[in-house]
Amino acid sequence: QVILEARGLEYSYEGGTQALSGLDLTVAPGRRLAILGANGAGKSTLLLHLNGTLRPDRGTVYLDGHPADYSRRGLIRWRQQVGLVLQDPDDQLFAASVYQDVSFGPLNLGLSEAAARQRVEEALAALEIEHLRDRPTHLLSFGQKKRVAIAGVVAMRPRVLVLDEPTAGLDPAGVQRLLATLDRLHRAGTTLILATHDMDLAYGWADEVAVLHRGAVLRQGPPEVVLQDA
Ligand code: ADP
Ligand code: ADP
Repeated sequence: QVILEARGLEYSYEGGTQALSGLDLTVAPGRRLAILGANGAGKSTLLLHLNGTLRPDRGTVYLDGHPADYSRRGLIRWRQQVGLVLQDPDDQLFAASVYQDVSFGPLNLGLSEAAARQRVEEALAALEIEHLRDRPTHLLSFGQKKRVAIAGVVAMRPRVLVLDEPTAGLDPAGVQRLLATLDRLHRAGTTLILATHDMDLAYGWADEVAVLHRGAVLRQGPPEVVLQDA
């Protein structure tokens, strides 16, 4: 059973940098997958392909076995299934208050105020930030912004949660708290994919790792097996 799959992805940025060069990745439901690789290996570019933000020059992304649909409606559906948390929360937070920010996605889905409120409360509770509900987003600390950005994605109730370097910029206590949050989401049934250059994090947290190098997956498998092969 496969929830997300990438086959032969190739992608070059304008100007010519080839960021993905024949990338294959398979994600089974319920996995905690760490995408590991040095700076510039292509992690962020891959993640942007996993929710359709970028479209490959060659190759195919499959969602539940179906080739991705890049029509407007297809992308809306896709992003309800696969939520992406960017590395920098300032790229993701736009509304004046935390409540407005986290409710933006649910309201955009066409949910009623009451249904959206329910989603927001659930997401704020999952991230343990109920007390920030009415705060202006621009006054929050980096770690708080990060949690709000994740809450905004969790409020969409995605089956797959994709996070780009989620622990970057957090202190050790913040990292532990984030990992505990991710564990709760995982136990609730969410498939998790995170990109990191932190080997210890990847091997300690993940039940599967994929090692990226120059835009391709060198190895994918259980941490102990991949580590042994390295
Ligand atoms: P990682 O997340 O592993 O650091 P990226 O996906 O960010 O890797 O980058 C892969 C390659 O693509 C790098 O060579 C990087 O410099 C290049 N790249 C990333 N984003 C852009 C962009 N917006 N424009 C041009 N080149 C980019
Ligand atoms: P990350 O590994 O988190 O992507 P990067 O340093 O690769 O960190 O990228 C930081 C930001 O700069 C990203 O938004 C990326 O798209 C952009 N970027 C990266 N490389 C380039 C590049 N060569 N030209 C233009 N933008 C880039």
